[in-house]
Amino acid sequence: MQTINISGNTQYFLDLEEKYGAHNYHPLPVVLNRGEGVHLWDVDGRQYYDFLSGYSAVNQGHCHPVILQAFMEQAQQLTLTSRAFHNDKLGEFEKYITAYFGYDKVLPMNTGAEAVETGIKLCRKWAYEVKGIEAGKAVIIVCDGNFHGRTSTIISFSNDPLARKNFGPYMPGFEAIPFNDQDALAKALENKNVAGFLVEPIQGEAGVLVPDNEYLAKAKQYCEAANVLFIADEIQTGLARTGKMLACDHESVRPDILLLGKALSGGMMPVSAVLCDDGIMLTIKPGEHGSTYGGNPLACAVAMASLRVLKEEKMAENADAMGSLLRKELEALQSPYISTVRGKGLLNAIVIDHPDKEAAWDLCLTLKENGVLAKPTHGDKIRFAPPLVINKTQLLDCVERIGRSLNSFQD
Ligand code: PLP
Repeated sequence: MQTINISGNTQYFLDLEEKYGAHNYHPLPVVLNRGEGVHLWDVDGRQYYDFLSGYSAVNQGHCHPVILQAFMEQAQQLTLTSRAFHNDKLGEFEKYITAYFGYDKVLPMNTGAEAVETGIKLCRKWAYEVKGIEAGKAVIIVCDGNFHGRTSTIISFSNDPLARKNFGPYMPGFEAIPFNDQDALAKALENKNVAGFLVEPIQGEAGVLVPDNEYLAKAKQYCEAANVLFIADEIQTGLARTGKMLACDHESVRPDILLLGKALSGGMMPVSAVLCDDGIMLTIKPGEHGSTYGGNPLACAVAMASLRVLKEEKMAENADAMGSLLRKELEALQSPYISTVRGKGLLNAIVIDHPDKEAAWDLCLTLKENGVLAKPTHGDKIRFAPPLVINKTQLLDCVERIGRSLNSFQD
């Protein structure tokens, strides 16, 4: 077990959370109070590289000045009206984001899970009102190992026991197939009641599982042939993270329903969005779906700025270049404790090969001591996903720190 020194200052904040907060997370013992670009600082003034980026919410880097400016200007003007009235930012945002991604319409929500829920509801509406599936019979195909959020519907089709245990009864209407298995998809699509296929183009929480080339393109082709909606959850993979604006762009796939969240606000506030064309979107009529905060003017202003800087600062291109460099340099470390390095763009993971089950956690503690913040996922995997503004010097500095941390490992 790795032992680390925790200052009294840090301990004070850890104790507060332990005593007064729900225990639904298991964070590293570091208390942060400042961020800028790729860096974070703790309450003792120590600087770190952020290698998680708020689970890819902070693609644009912490407190990006352009997004911050948009946030502050709008916050002083108008923040929320609810959708009972119009506001002068919503239409502009809708025009901007639909042109940006090439869809007829957008439905703005807040969290990623809400975008997924909205996608599911849209898919079911379309199934009954357009495709003509018998009422209550629609099925959505999902993948084993998926992570789409934490609502009771979403955990119903998770196969992570931690996410599901004692949260039943579960929502029916989902069928799970193995990820990255075209044949399993083709078979599942034989069921005439299938309305949609919901997939993460790269499974993030599962440990950055990148499917085979052409998997997404084939899946889209099969869905089209079966008149089934291809629903891409790009909440973690989208917005330049994998080296293209969308991970689906690597295979020139245009999802029927596109789910975005996280970096849509550059980490400023929860903003998510569902994009699709009229034939699907207009199945939802006034009063049938909504959210008090969805489409609020502050979120709209922040989202437009967040999207704008991704393109203006060529973040997809940087993610692509820095991601290739990161994987190459990690391989070059030739650590006996890394069994796999994988990823696309700046969504990467290493798999730790060590007899101690706590090794990945311990390595993250050592990384923290060496100034790099990362977190294990599913035990032995560690995601390396820094903000997309990282430069070569910073990246090589991080790899050196990672190498040093691995070297301190003992069997
Ligand atoms: N979908 C994917 C692929 C995610 O990675 C996540 C969060 O990690 C979500 C959905 C849920 O997003 P949120 O936590 O904002 O509800």
